[in-house]
Amino acid sequence: MARTIDVAEYAKGVLGGDRGVLARAITLVESTRAEHRAKAQELLVELLPKSGAAIRVGITGVPGVGKSTFIDALGTTLTEQGHRVAVLAVDPSSTRTGGSILGDKTRMQRLSVNQNAFIRPSPTSGTLGGVAQATRETIVLVEAAGFDVVLVETVGVGQSEVAVANMTDCSLFLTLARTGDQLQGIKKGILELADVIAVNKADGEHEMDARKAARELAGALKLLRPPDALWHPPVLTCSGLTGTGLDELWSRVLEHRRTLTDAGELDDRRRRQQIDWTWMMVHDELWRQVRESGAVRSLAPSLEEKVRLGELTATLAAEQILQAFQSDSR
Ligand code: GDP
Repeated sequence: MARTIDVAEYAKGVLGGDRGVLARAITLVESTRAEHRAKAQELLVELLPKSGAAIRVGITGVPGVGKSTFIDALGTTLTEQGHRVAVLAVDPSSTRTGGSILGDKTRMQRLSVNQNAFIRPSPTSGTLGGVAQATRETIVLVEAAGFDVVLVETVGVGQSEVAVANMTDCSLFLTLARTGDQLQGIKKGILELADVIAVNKADGEHEMDARKAARELAGALKLLRPPDALWHPPVLTCSGLTGTGLDELWSRVLEHRRTLTDAGELDDRRRRQQIDWTWMMVHDELWRQVRESGAVRSLAPSLEEKVRLGELTATLAAEQILQAFQSDSR
C-alpha cells in the first residue's frame, strides 16, 4: 500500500511530469468516495490554470473499426514530431463488466512503451455520467503534466460519443467502407457530431472500396449540414495499419482547430462544455439523491405497480415521487 500523499504533493508530482503520481492522481479523481472527491476537487482547482493547452481529439468508431491500431500509429507519429500524447477512454460497458477494452495498453504496443505517451483505460465504475466526469477531470491532470495532445477513445454505440464530443475540441469518426444502403446504418447523430470523418482500413484490396465509400459519405453529409456552416467535415481515407493518410488526417484536425480559433469558436465551445457539464452534474447528483431517498424507495414499488396496472397515471406517480423526495430532503 503506497503511503497517502497530500494535495500539494500530488500537484507537484503531476506538474513535474511524475508518471506514478499522475496515475495515482487519476485514481483519485476516479474515486467516488466523499473524502477522495473533496481532495480531487482541491487538486483540480490547483491545476486548472496549468491546463487547457492541449489539442483534445475524440475518436469514435464501432469495435473492430481499428481504433487501437489507428491510435497506436497516429500517437507514435505525433510523438516523433515532438508531441506528448495522452490516450484516455470512455467505455460505458466497462461499468458493467468491470473491465475496459478501450485504452488497453496491450492493444497499443508501440505507444504503451513510449516515454512520450501515457495510456489510461476507461474508469470502470459508475454511470456513463460518472465515467465521463472522471475522464474530463483526467484531461485536466494530463494537460497539467505537460501532454499537449489528448486522444479520447470511445465506441460509436450509445451515448458515450456525445459525452466525448462534449469534452474534446474535435470529433474524429472512424468508419469502414460502406456504400449505398449500408450508409443508412451509420447513425445520423454520429455524423452530426463528427468534425473529421475517415474511412479506415483503406489498404491493399480495400483501398478502392474505401475511396468510393468516402465519396458517397461526403455526398450524404452535404445533405445533413447547413451550407453556411463554419466547418465542413472532410471525409478522408486512411489506414492505421500502414500509416497511409494519417498525416493528411492530422493536418485536417489542425485546420479544423485553426478555423474554430480564428472565429473565436474554440473558446466558446470549451466554455459551453463547462456550462453543459455543470448542469449535467446537477442532474446526475439530483437523480442519485432521488434514487437513494428512503421515502422514494419505500414508495416506489407500490407506485410502479399501480402505474403498471393502469390505476395511476405516470404524471401523478411522478408527482408523488417528487413530493416524497422533497419531504425527505427537508
Ligand atoms: P478497435 O476495436 O476499433 O480498437 O480495432 P482494432 O485496432 O483492435 O482492430 C481490429 C482488427 O482490424 C484487428 O484485427 C486489426 O489488425 C485490424 N485492423 C486495424 N486497423 C487496420 C487497418 O488499417 N487495415 C487493415 N487491413 N486492418 C486493420
